[in-house]
Amino acid sequence: MTVKGTPKGFTTEILHHDRLRGTEHGAVHQPIHTSSQYGYEDARDLVAVFQGKPGFSYARQGTPTTAALEAKLTQMEGGLSAITFATGMAALAAVFTTLLKSGDHLLASQYVFGNTNSLFGTLAQLGIDVSLVDATDLAQVKAAVRPNTRMIFVETIGNPGTQIADLAGIGEFAKANNLVYLVDGTLTSPYLLQAKSVGASLTMHSLSKHIAGHAQALGGVVIDTGLFDWSVYPNILPTYQKGEPKTWAITQIKKKGLRDMGATLAAEPAHRISIGAETLALRLDKACANALALAQMLDKHPCVARVAYPGLQHHPQHERAASLFAGRFSTLLSFTLKPEINCVDFLNSLTLPVLATHVGDTRTLALPVAQTIYHEMGPSMRARMGIDDGLVRVSVGIEDIDDLLDDFARALDEFV
Ligand SMILES: *Cc1c(COP(=O)(O)O)cnc(C)c1O
Repeated sequence: MTVKGTPKGFTTEILHHDRLRGTEHGAVHQPIHTSSQYGYEDARDLVAVFQGKPGFSYARQGTPTTAALEAKLTQMEGGLSAITFATGMAALAAVFTTLLKSGDHLLASQYVFGNTNSLFGTLAQLGIDVSLVDATDLAQVKAAVRPNTRMIFVETIGNPGTQIADLAGIGEFAKANNLVYLVDGTLTSPYLLQAKSVGASLTMHSLSKHIAGHAQALGGVVIDTGLFDWSVYPNILPTYQKGEPKTWAITQIKKKGLRDMGATLAAEPAHRISIGAETLALRLDKACANALALAQMLDKHPCVARVAYPGLQHHPQHERAASLFAGRFSTLLSFTLKPEINCVDFLNSLTLPVLATHVGDTRTLALPVAQTIYHEMGPSMRARMGIDDGLVRVSVGIEDIDDLLDDFARALDEFV
């Protein structure tokens, strides 16, 4: 449901969404439904819900609170339908394991979130072939497709390197070849990019990041954009081939993913995520502007060897980012200090950023990449992935920009 009358803007739609779907007593938020089961006066209604009619039964498969959040996220992506999960990883695990089977090939970007890379190892053990390519280059994606390829997976912006896949080119290629195209839009959120606009079949987000936004809740979502014709997809079980083919995949992800694996988003974090989403656009406008200003300052500093940020003219995919993300270049940047500077010492000289993993918080976060999130990988793999020992990742928040610039400049100046 959208705001009455002409289509409204991104934030207007989010703010009025719950109320317009109907709440009690004029409440502006959907309530937090804590009930773990939902009963019916007439057994026929219970039967109908079990046989596919929309409704609630046992809360492992969702509650009115998660359903309200799913409707809001679907609206934000301009999609068809959505399923939420307890975390982003639960959402990814559910999509891969319910839509792929042993003997299938998953073609993925090599620039993916470390934990997703770890999940690929688990998929390989289940007999799913996974191959990684440099998805900034469409030719490499095309060359890696095999007869058993079922799905292409990319993230909108690589972390920590900020590489930007040829999102639209891959979308056209996937469409022409009937391949499912799954886009992890966590780092951009639907405010910077609706995955539908680049031809994605499905998009997922870690709701824990920008959408919740205040480091106050974990969650994940999978949204069907409505672009893929699931009647041509071989892995939909006969029991879910009912009704409109556009709904088949999300039904299977929900039934097999939530029912069998059970990583359900609880109502309380769903509510907190929903509140966070109300200010997504405001926070991102500010944090993206902050990130650009910080990247420009770092880029000129004599202690910094390289800065990776799509908003800088010298970023290899600067033009692509400018056209895809409506002039905003995300909140994530990374930079490499000159080799004589110890990046842990540098981080200890900062006073403002929180030294922590996580991205998309209102607060600026910083961490030494090689020594933390890429530690388990070992030095040779890090070298191959271009992760230098002096690499610092920054998730830029919404602080007043002068405070951020002052703190980074002062900390760097200690090493001049
Ligand atoms: C954080 C993250 C995930 C996983 O989400 P969680 O909610 O932490 O499980 C997946 N993809 C990307 C790009 C992420 O940044």
